[in-house]
Amino acid sequence: MFKKLGIFFGALLLGTSVVANEVTVYSHRHYDADKKLFDEFTRETGITVNVIKAKSDELIKRLELEGENTNADVLVTVDAGRLYRAKSKDLLQVVESKTLEERIPAHLRDPDKKWFGLTVRARVIVYSKDRVKPPQLSTYADLANPQWKGKILIRKSTNIYNQSLLASVIAHNGEEKAIAWAEGVKKNMARKPKGNDRGQVLAVAAGEGDLAIVNTYYLGIMQNAPEGSKEWKEQREAFSKVSVFFPDQKGNGTHINVSGAGVTKHAPNKANAIKLIEFLSSKKAQEVYAKENFEFPVLSGVELSTLLKSWGDFKRDDLSLNKLGELNSEASKVFDIVGWDN
Ligand code: FE
Repeated sequence: MFKKLGIFFGALLLGTSVVANEVTVYSHRHYDADKKLFDEFTRETGITVNVIKAKSDELIKRLELEGENTNADVLVTVDAGRLYRAKSKDLLQVVESKTLEERIPAHLRDPDKKWFGLTVRARVIVYSKDRVKPPQLSTYADLANPQWKGKILIRKSTNIYNQSLLASVIAHNGEEKAIAWAEGVKKNMARKPKGNDRGQVLAVAAGEGDLAIVNTYYLGIMQNAPEGSKEWKEQREAFSKVSVFFPDQKGNGTHINVSGAGVTKHAPNKANAIKLIEFLSSKKAQEVYAKENFEFPVLSGVELSTLLKSWGDFKRDDLSLNKLGELNSEASKVFDIVGWDN
């Protein structure tokens, strides 16, 4: 009898310990820094991190299809617009964590506690050092000014970073002004929108245009493109020909966005999932994001990389990032109205 009970409890313990010792992450991020952080988390806690990487919308689709049967505990993705999308589809659950609330400023996390920003990126103006002088630059609004005709490089309207930037314009100025702005920027484009953020910087360096709209960490990635990687020489050379300008310093501040995480609604390992997100918001982890991936920390008092330090402090737009999600479809509509991609 006792022997049987012993086996029963043994199996139970074994069962729980197996379940308790892992966490599965669906991630849109594909950086070495993330792998390093997951390994460090495992070393500290003994919890194995299983990572499944794919594009955000694929991960969201997969979570929808898997429903209660999912193995995913944490969804990691870039852009508050996408985190909001996962939340709207009821794929995330409420997380009560004093640690996360203390470390992450309120506008960088979901007011309903379903997602948390972990790194900050600014969407800035990158300009040709040869052809543009910083005093000529000022605001996002100024990008619609005819003085920039044929000079601006920016990617397509399907890109969520652009949708979020336009959502912030709508949030601050209303839809009518946002339409006028998007129309103005479209008229000033050096070419039809194409390529990724790095592609816009390469095009500025090649003289196709003078200004590009780019997320800050791509500059760090280009400056440090590993020898032998794709177009590494071109990337490093392009980096040396451009500089960064933070718009709207006298107004709302530069548009920022986050990469962040949430616990999935049906997470089999909820406690481990929260532990992992808390770890990623710790000083140690935030320093890795800042130094190795050139992202701004959400936690204050964290040492930045040399490049980020060289840009100096800047005023950030403190719009609640939830707004970017709420206004996402309106932003897409405005892009369609002005025929952004045509
Ligand atoms: Fe990116």
